[in-house]
Formats: sequence, C-alpha cells, structure tokens
Amino acid sequence: MYDRVFNFSAGPSALPLPVLERARNEMVNFEESGMSVMELSHRSQIYNGIMERAENGLRQALNVPDDYAVLFLQGGASFQFTMLPMNLTLEGKAVDALNTGVWTQKAIAELEKIAQYRIAGSSEAEGFTRLPRPDEISFNPNASYVHIASNNTIYGTQWHRFPDTGDAPLVADMSSDILSRPIDVSDFGVIFAGAQKNIGPAGVTIVIIRKDLAGRASDNLPTMLNYRTHISKGSMFNTPPTFGIYIIALVMEWIAAEGGVSAMEKYNKTKAALLYNAIDASDFYSGPVNKADRSLMNVVFRVKSGDAELEKQFVTQAAAAGLSNLKGHRSTGGIRASIYNAQPIEGVGALVEFMQQFEQKYG
Ligand SMILES: *Cc1c(COP(=O)(O)O)cnc(C)c1O
Repeated sequence: MYDRVFNFSAGPSALPLPVLERARNEMVNFEESGMSVMELSHRSQIYNGIMERAENGLRQALNVPDDYAVLFLQGGASFQFTMLPMNLTLEGKAVDALNTGVWTQKAIAELEKIAQYRIAGSSEAEGFTRLPRPDEISFNPNASYVHIASNNTIYGTQWHRFPDTGDAPLVADMSSDILSRPIDVSDFGVIFAGAQKNIGPAGVTIVIIRKDLAGRASDNLPTMLNYRTHISKGSMFNTPPTFGIYIIALVMEWIAAEGGVSAMEKYNKTKAALLYNAIDASDFYSGPVNKADRSLMNVVFRVKSGDAELEKQFVTQAAAAGLSNLKGHRSTGGIRASIYNAQPIEGVGALVEFMQQFEQKYG
C-alpha cells in the first residue's frame, strides 16, 4: 500500500502507522486553523490544546502523580547527563552510578566534570552482557541520587526489577523503554528519555521530575539549565519543539486506544518471546545476553558465533527482504532487532521467517 518496510532501527525508530496517517491528514490545515501545526504560534490557544494533549496523555499513560512535573525539553537524553548533576547534586553527597554500558558511561563522563560520584555497580568486566547482580551493588545511603539506565539499547539488557536505593532518589534514563511497560513513577526521582525511540520524533526530550528535587538547584544556575525555569513556564520558557510535541500527543492517543502501557507490555512480551525462542531453538543463532536480563526492546544476537562476513550478509539480505536496520551497534557487532511499541508483530514474524530461511541456506 505505502511500500513501507519493517524498520528495526534502534533510534530514531518506527512510529505507529495510524499516527503517521493522522499527521498526514492534519498536515496542511490543522483543525481549521488554516495552517499546519509547524506554523502555529506556540502561544496560541490552539497550540495550547496540543500541549495539554501531550502532557495529559503522558500523565495518563504512566499514571504520573501530581507532585511530578512533566517537561518537554530539547538537547536529547544526552543533555540530561549534564543538566541532572547541575541541578540535583548536594554539597558533599556524591552521586551513585550503575555502569551498564555506553549510555551510563556517557553520563558518568559528565559527572566526572560536574560532580562527585562513585560507581555503585558495574558489569563492564562481562562486556555488559548482563546487569550487575544485587551482591555486586553497593549504594551510599547519602548519595545525592542514583543514576541508572533502565534499558541498555546497545547490549540488549533491561532492568526487570529496579534496585532499592533507599532514601537516595533513583534517576532513570528510560530513553529506550519508556511507555513499554507499567512503572510506578513514585519509585523514581527523575525519569528522562529522548523521544525518538518509543515516544515520538527526535528533537524532544521528556523529563518527569519530582518537583521538590528541582528545588535543589542554585539560583545562580543559568536560566535554561534550571529545571525550575521549565516547570514554572510549562515547558514554554522559549519556543518548544512544537511539531514533535504534536506527534507525541498522537502517539499517546494511539497508546491509550491500544489499551495503555499494560497492553503495550503484553504485546512487547509476545513479540520478544517470538524472537528469543527462534534464537534459542537454533544452534546457528546465539544470544550473548544473560537470559534473566534480556531486553524486551532491543534483541541482540549473533549469527554462527559471530561470523562477521555472514552477519553482513544477514543484514544485507534482510534489508532486501524489507527488514531494515538490523545491524548491531558498531561497538558490539552482530545483529540487533529493536522492537519498540510501534513494531508490529507481523514485523517480528517476518524476521523469524527470514532467520529460518537464512539458516537453511547457510547453516
Ligand atoms: C539513544 C539513547 C540515548 C541518547 O539519546 P539522545 O536523545 O540521542 O541524546 C541515551 N540513553 C539511552 C539509553 C539511549 O538509548
């Protein structure tokens, strides 16, 4: 119909087709305004309506308590690696970080420049193919906060149970699994995520922050770097990424229509099981990740114990068959299938079928 492929990209990633169709239908003349969303003033009443739909949709999907602010910022998840320590560190209280791969290492590199920190647990010695075990983690009860990545996009690991950090607020980078499952927001001090994996288009960053934590920052912090600025102005201190926020509103409405995040979780579990079962059922494919820590979002596997030439063939031939972006991250090699909320089960089914055919040919 549209000649669309199944897109397994880790990010920016597939968006739900009904969202794209609706955006197309509303593109040129949004709600009889005579203009597109991109051309609306962010101060107009009509745009205000979009902002409310996005925020309320997100609040509803994740059941966000009233003492948390929901912000739509820019700079990507990476900018939060800088902004968080600038706002949340308390004098003499080091930040605790759990190191589970590239994205936490990048956050730690910023901590290095801005704050005192310590590594509370790491799985670096295992090549990040599993998460640190409880007996390998030690939290400082006086930490300013604890930094964690809920899903490790590159390695395909995911926290299925979050560690108990006691009185230290848990700050979670949920860039690659937000909205994929129900969470209890009150277990976290801050949740942040770049939009381009499971929320909407690139260019918007979601920050969900317990409001009292925003009180920690010094008044001397530059205006745009201070969460209080964005909370007091409803993410409208300056021009927000208006079109991206509009698409987020549509994605939130799509999630609600599908049955909310618990329905997403059920669907995601079914999709991931299909793929992991196919990997486990064959000697030709292998999954490097510790089974208990396997991600429901990014399924990482090797072809013939990591035969680089064969893996290249796999990626090329899959693309020719309409299965795009299956190449693993450049730092790990191998194959990675990202199956976020918007990846239909038909896409996973088509991949499993392709895997079987490929094995018959080269196994
Ligand atoms: C993609 C990703 C990021 C980086 O997001 P940007 O918006 O590009 O800065 C950070 N953390 C995780 C877990 C990611 O998957």
